[in-house]
Amino acid sequence: MRLDKFLANHGIGTRTEVKQLIKKGAVTVNDDIVKKPEYKVNEASDVIKCNGTTIEYEKELYIILNKPQGVISATEDNLHTTVVDLMPEFSHFNIHPVGRLDKDTEGLLILTTDGQFSHRVLSPSKHVNKTYRAKLDGEVDVEAVNLFKMGITLEDGYRCMPAQLNILSPDNIEVTIQEGKFHQVKRMFQAIGLNVIYLKRMRMGNLDLPADLDTGQYRKMTIEEINLVQ
Ligand code: URA
Repeated sequence: MRLDKFLANHGIGTRTEVKQLIKKGAVTVNDDIVKKPEYKVNEASDVIKCNGTTIEYEKELYIILNKPQGVISATEDNLHTTVVDLMPEFSHFNIHPVGRLDKDTEGLLILTTDGQFSHRVLSPSKHVNKTYRAKLDGEVDVEAVNLFKMGITLEDGYRCMPAQLNILSPDNIEVTIQEGKFHQVKRMFQAIGLNVIYLKRMRMGNLDLPADLDTGQYRKMTIEEINLVQ
């Protein structure tokens, strides 16, 4: 890989910024100053330093975001703020959101450069559970727990896979689904005559939304967290 690409991929700066750093002599490869941006490095074995600090090789990037309302789960959009716009320091990485949350949904969203990871997590055959908290515009009947367990039929005739519904209070629930159909949670409640007026994703697989990650905050995921999702 080119040296300038390696530096940009590791968040050191934009392609233009890292080229300037390289030309200024701020970058060493195996302790030799390299001033050519196109210099080919072996990213897995060369020791690459910028201003004396070693840049640890990361093959892929995984970010956890507590998505706020009002932003869309896309990489770019002419009209709306996207989840990638929220993280300028990662915007020159080729990150994409793993699945979608609606514009008005909050909570756990992963962004990554790793297409295979997304594929695994989103694959319907993997049944990666997703847990949501929702506030409803009316009171939910305890009967609904059974209906969700048996599989709610949506307005288009699609029969959902079994879902676990926990009633926290008459109009506040927690629901765990195994799939990710378009507007699924909202449509499941519409099928029983209720509207979701607030929705937040709390958990994916075995990974909880970290309690210390406020709405709008994001950070790189640890290896343990990455493994908890799959
Ligand atoms: N279900 C929905 O209806 N919306 C979301 O954003 C996620 C799940």
